[in-house]
Amino acid sequence: MSHGVQDAGTKSTETKGVETVSDQEQAVLSQVPTGLFIAGEWREARSGARLDVEDPATGKVLTTVADASPEDGMDALAAAVDVQQSWAATPPRERGEVLRRAYEAIMDRIDDLSLVMTLEMGKAIAESRAEINYAAEFFRWFSEEAVRIAGRYSVAPAGGSRLLTMKQPVGPSLFITPWNFPMAMGTRKIGPAVAAGCTMVVKPAAETPLSMLALASILAEAGLPAGVLNVVPTSSAGQVSEPLIRDPRLRKLSFTGSTQVGRKLIEQSAEQVLKVSMELGGNAPFLVFDDADLDAAIEGAFKAKMRNVGEACTAANRFHVHESVAGEFASRLAARLSELRVGRGTEEGVEVGPLINAKQRDGVEDLVGDAVSRGARVLTGGSRTGEAGYFFEPTVLGDVPAEARILAEEVFGPVAPVTTFSSDDEAVSMANNTEYGLVSYVYTKDLERAIRVCERLETGMIGLNAGIVSNVAAPFGGVKASGFGREGGFEGIEEFLETKYVSMALSS
Ligand code: NAP
Repeated sequence: MSHGVQDAGTKSTETKGVETVSDQEQAVLSQVPTGLFIAGEWREARSGARLDVEDPATGKVLTTVADASPEDGMDALAAAVDVQQSWAATPPRERGEVLRRAYEAIMDRIDDLSLVMTLEMGKAIAESRAEINYAAEFFRWFSEEAVRIAGRYSVAPAGGSRLLTMKQPVGPSLFITPWNFPMAMGTRKIGPAVAAGCTMVVKPAAETPLSMLALASILAEAGLPAGVLNVVPTSSAGQVSEPLIRDPRLRKLSFTGSTQVGRKLIEQSAEQVLKVSMELGGNAPFLVFDDADLDAAIEGAFKAKMRNVGEACTAANRFHVHESVAGEFASRLAARLSELRVGRGTEEGVEVGPLINAKQRDGVEDLVGDAVSRGARVLTGGSRTGEAGYFFEPTVLGDVPAEARILAEEVFGPVAPVTTFSSDDEAVSMANNTEYGLVSYVYTKDLERAIRVCERLETGMIGLNAGIVSNVAAPFGGVKASGFGREGGFEGIEEFLETKYVSMALSS
C-alpha cells in the first residue's frame, strides 16, 4: 500500500467484528493512530478505557480508540496553554508553511483518508474524497492568510495622538466537532487557529474520531510543534468539555453541532465570558419560482438534498415550489432520486451510504411516518432498507401539509418534502418561518426577483441558482438559532484574533 495514513502512535490492539472489513480496509485502518494526542505524544487514556468505532454500513465495531476522561482533557488543555506563548511568537510564515505541508500531505494520502472516513462515517467514497479535498483547502487558504494579519495606524481626528491597532491570537481554544463531516469541520477551525497563532484542544465526535486522529498525525509530521494541537476523543463529551470551558486559561470555544448542545455550551461559556463561535443546526428552505430553469433546479435540489446523504447542516430540508411547477418538479426529483444506488459506501457504484446510527435512521423514519399520517404522498422511497446497517431510501414526499413535523425539524436524512406557494410574499414567509437561519436556496431567472427575495431571507447564506454554497473562500455561518461567527473566507481568521488598540500621545 502506498501513502498510508501516517503511522504515528498507539495502534489498535483489539478489533472486534472485523470479519466484514476486507484485508485492504484493515491494512489502511491499522495505520491510523488510536491513542489520545496530547503534548505531541500518543498515549492511552489515564483510565485505560477504549471507545468502539462502528461501521454504520454493518453495525459492527471497526476498531477502538482511547476514551479520554476529564483528567485527560485537562492534560490536553495544560499542553495547549504551555506552548501558547511560543506558538504565538512563531513567525507567521512558519505557521503558514506547516499548514501548506499538511495540505500537500492530505492530498497525497487522499485515497487512504477517504477509505477511513467512509468506514467510520458511511458516506460513499466519492463523497469522502470531496470532503477531504474541501477539508484540505482550508489549510491551503489559511496558509496564505497567516502572513496577511495586519493592524492599522491613524492620526486621531483632533490631531495630537496616534491610534495603533494590532491583531493578536485569542489564545488556547477548544473545538468540538460533529460526525457528519469528520475532517472538514475540524480543518476549518484548526486552519485559522494555526494561522493566527492559537493552540488548541479538539474533541471530535465519538462516532468518527479516526479522521481527526489521522489528521493530527499529518500535522505533527508537517512540523506542528508539540502541544499546539491536542486531540481527545471521548464517550463523555460533556464531562470532558465543561471543565475546560469553565477554566480561565481557555480563551475561545468553537463548536459545530446541534442547536440544543450549542445552547448548553453558550450558557457554560457565559461564566468566564469566553469568546465563542457557534455553527449550529439548519432547516434550509429551497424555493423554486415559476420562472426557474427546472433542469437546473432539479440538479441543484439533488445536490442540496443528497450531499452527505442529507446529513448536512446545509441540506435542503423543505422544498417550497410555485404551484404552477410543483407537480413537475416533484415527479422529476423523485425520478432522479429513485435511480440512486444505495449500499456500503466502499462498494463500486454506490452513491448513497447509510445514516450514521440507528437513532438517526429511526428519527428520519419517524418524520416520514408523521408526514404520511397527515396526508403527504410518497413519490419514491419512504422506508428503511438493507439487512444490516442504517440505510434509508432516497425519498420524495408530495403534498406535505404545513403542520407536518418534517417542515419544522431538521431531517438529517435523504428525504425531500415538497410543498407549494402561490406568491413571492408567501414563499418568503414560508422560508423564514423557522427558528433557524443557516442557508436558503433560491431558483429564479428574474434578477430583480432574486435580489428582492435574497434581501428578505433571514439566513446567513443563500444559494442563488446553486445547490451548494460551501466554499473555502466564503464566510460560512448562520443567523438566528443557527449560530454566530463565520468560518472560511477573510472572516474565518478574525474569529481567532483579538484587536488591541494603543493610543499614543505625542508630546506637542
Ligand atoms: P451534537 O449532538 O450537537 O454533537 C456535536 C458534537 O458535540 C459532538 O462532538 C458531540 O460529542 C458533542 N457533544 C454532545 N453533547 C455535548 C455536551 N453536552 N457538551 C459538549 N459537547 C457535546 O450534533 P450531531 O448530532 O453530532 O451533529 C449534527 C448537528 O450538527 C446538526 O444539527 C447539524 O445541523 C449540525 N451541524 C452544523 C454545521 C454548521 O456549520 N452550522 C455543520 C455540521 C453540522 P459526541 O459525539 O460524544 O456526542
